[in-house]
Amino acid sequence: MPVSDYIVTIGLEVHCQIKTNTKMFCGCETSFADEPNTHTCPTCLGLPGALPVLNEFAIERTILAGMLLGCSTPPTVVWDRKNYFYPDMPKDYQITQMDLPLCLGGGVPLYSHTYPKEAQKNIVNPGKVVELNRIHLEEDVAKSTHLANSTLIDFNRAGTPLMEIVSEPDIASAEETFAYLKSLQQILIAGGISDADMEKGQMRCDVNISVRKNESDPLGTKIELKNMNSTSAVRRAIHYEVARQCEALDTDEPLVQSTRRWSDELEETQEMRTKEDAHDYRYFPDPDLLPVRTAAYIEKVRPLVAELPHEKSARYQVDLGLTEYDASVITSDVHLAAYFEQAAEATKAPGKKIANWIINNLLGLLNEKSLEISDSPITAQTLGGILDLIEAGTVSNSQAKDLFAALWENPEKDPATLAKEMGFEPADTGAIDAIVDEVIASNPDKVAEIQGGNEKLLNFLTGQVMKASKGKANPKLATDALKEKIL
Ligand code: ZN
Ligand code: MN
Repeated sequence: MPVSDYIVTIGLEVHCQIKTNTKMFCGCETSFADEPNTHTCPTCLGLPGALPVLNEFAIERTILAGMLLGCSTPPTVVWDRKNYFYPDMPKDYQITQMDLPLCLGGGVPLYSHTYPKEAQKNIVNPGKVVELNRIHLEEDVAKSTHLANSTLIDFNRAGTPLMEIVSEPDIASAEETFAYLKSLQQILIAGGISDADMEKGQMRCDVNISVRKNESDPLGTKIELKNMNSTSAVRRAIHYEVARQCEALDTDEPLVQSTRRWSDELEETQEMRTKEDAHDYRYFPDPDLLPVRTAAYIEKVRPLVAELPHEKSARYQVDLGLTEYDASVITSDVHLAAYFEQAAEATKAPGKKIANWIINNLLGLLNEKSLEISDSPITAQTLGGILDLIEAGTVSNSQAKDLFAALWENPEKDPATLAKEMGFEPADTGAIDAIVDEVIASNPDKVAEIQGGNEKLLNFLTGQVMKASKGKANPKLATDALKEKIL
């Protein structure tokens, strides 16, 4: 049976570092660029007798993330110990939340523009919201670096506040998984919760995959892909794993519940362990930490709930007349959205035009030069200035493009001044008048047609005026003059 006929079910566990200054249960700084083992204390080194103290800011941020994603928060939450032996966690347990996490339910909307490019034309379930099971707060472990005969451990990362966002098995393909991770990233960044940079290890995920033949069958054998840290690798790994599992079902080879890792070099998944050697973590409430009442935190963060990309996008479409596509591009990056709003404040041009200029001219050039929007030599004010010149008829669209290029090289200049220097000031009316008269005189048939109602031909005559003026005339003024004389 072809792979495409199988039903794929995917659930994600995403670990995401929260942007905080200090660790989850001690006052050590969260800093990763520094010398190894320079931000440690008895608590995050797990020394006997050291006691944990809660980081309230991390609790607030987790509740805020939950609010952004439509989760509910139980009135009381509890901290549990997850017991296991591994050198990256010297107390031999991780403090986490098992039965009463900070957030329950909710969902992640999959934004169309976050699907892989070639999948965007064929989205199976547009507007889908992936259901969440929970978000809990826990501590990160130390970072191990494995060498040939030894392992180095850096405790700077140990105890960093980590949010674990657990989805329901509600994702149906590698493409949806890709969109899920990208959409989640955008939301967490917009909300100021995390920088969610997978390359920097701020976001990592475990992917649970199963396949089955019919909707009425129970879910297939669950296979987990551990510790994925790039969205494109996740996509490739899922494609590989789905094909592998389907082939096993086709040949009646039994699938075993297991954990696998993705090898980027070999482009394949490899078995790490099966269910038989799964840990029993012996969860129990941490006797060093009291349960937390959440009501006061909820009230504190409620005013901080930021406008999410899809809410912004809806506002831009309704209030500023942007197309759905343009709005989704502009809102995919908080900094880009801020730039757009600043430009909109700086010009009288309609939002649709501003978005066009940003997407068609600015983003292209930024991309070409590998620059971020925050590094753009053309500021939002400058772009607003250019658009005002177009609106006022001082420069034509194509002249504006030249002006844009010139301002890119001379960002300190004022658009209006530079336009004048480039000779884009409207030619004096007398000069245009003479050219217009000439054009009218040499095109009597066109003039008659226009007078007969074919006003589209005005564009042709405007073109003639532009040509005769060697591009210096302002097309809007030329058309106005033509209209006045002919109609
Ligand atoms: Zn510490
Ligand atoms: Mn975890």
